[in-house]
Amino acid sequence: MNESTQQIFDKDARDYLPVFNRYKIVVDHGEGVYTYDNEGNRYIDFLAGIAVNVLGHNYRPLVTAIAEQAAKVIHISNLYYTKPQADAASKLVKLSGLGRAFFCNSGAEANEGAIKIARKFAHNIDKDKSQIITAWNSFHGRTLATLTATGQPHYQHGYEPLPGGFDYVHYNDIDELEKTMSDKTCAVMLETIQGEGGVYPPKGDYLKQVRELCNKYNALLILDEIQAGIGRSGKFFAYDKYNIKPDIVTLAKGLAGGVPIGAFITTEEVAAAFKPGDHGTTFGGNPLACAAANVVLDTVPDEKFLNNVIEVGKYFKETLYNLKSKYPELIVDVRGEGLILGAELSDQNKLTGVEIVNECMKRGAIINCTVGKVLRFIPPLIITKDHVDEVISILDAVMNTSK
Ligand SMILES: *Cc1c(COP(=O)(O)O)cnc(C)c1O
Repeated sequence: MNESTQQIFDKDARDYLPVFNRYKIVVDHGEGVYTYDNEGNRYIDFLAGIAVNVLGHNYRPLVTAIAEQAAKVIHISNLYYTKPQADAASKLVKLSGLGRAFFCNSGAEANEGAIKIARKFAHNIDKDKSQIITAWNSFHGRTLATLTATGQPHYQHGYEPLPGGFDYVHYNDIDELEKTMSDKTCAVMLETIQGEGGVYPPKGDYLKQVRELCNKYNALLILDEIQAGIGRSGKFFAYDKYNIKPDIVTLAKGLAGGVPIGAFITTEEVAAAFKPGDHGTTFGGNPLACAAANVVLDTVPDEKFLNNVIEVGKYFKETLYNLKSKYPELIVDVRGEGLILGAELSDQNKLTGVEIVNECMKRGAIINCTVGKVLRFIPPLIITKDHVDEVISILDAVMNTSK
């Protein structure tokens, strides 16, 4: 370990508020699918900044667009029009088939805005129409409203009193949802594919039935595609895989390839619930972030680009199934769509999920483990089958020591 690495660890230990368990590397730079630490070690990166770096690192058109925009104007506030923002909004409206887009800076803020506009819209119908139903095991963010929406109590403990009006149902259980809904339901909010909770796609025509129940009770369907959207499922919007349309969809993570941004997109009808002054943001959708988003929005929806996600994703899933056949006592399930994949580990493993992640890292691969037992793969969307083979061979070597 060189001097500066230890100095950085020491500074962080002294001065950074420690809410993260960090891996002991200092990242220096990235190139494509690879991340390099400051000691020159290379890692194949199948976490991609938590589903953010959809175009990989140092993607030239993205770097150029950011540099050119920075030289023109980085920020000007939302009191003025900018072309990058107008362009990005138009692209999202066209891709989504919805009516209007709003930009913010993160996923939590996108969901916060979605919850706010849903409440405003429903209050105009009936001021008691305020119930928001979300799923156990979901993840929607860390603000007070979004961590309340997040159906994982451990994220909520200690922050009470939480905002009211939230109820929870089991994802993929349509009967439970029906029993929970009424005319007082303002919105049902779900991840199109649950990510952080362990990679759970919707089963059968669950989402279609959710859509029908929302229609029946005049409730809005909010789909959180912060992780599963932006092409990761093989469609630009994951809901297009399931042939439904939400009333509101939220995006963030990959939307600007790594520059902080969030967005919610909704119908004209719902959008009309917000009047000037009802919502706002200083940074949201500034020209720098939108210039970056425009590169993503010009690249990812392309049929050839998405076909790569589908093809490599299918290959990746098959190789995970092969790994499961080879280590049936270690891997109990393989799930996911496109390039959001999970391999669930058995409870009896000699190595825990976290230990497997650490062992992979020692061998030069960055992967992730969520909820303590699901290896989660959310790589850049530009990976090839060779990259998959590289990660799988490392995983194979690690699992071999764990038998
Ligand atoms: C990451 C994530 C969020 C929160 O996004 P932040 O940018 O961290 O606020 C919300 N919903 C889902 C599905 C996510 O994966």
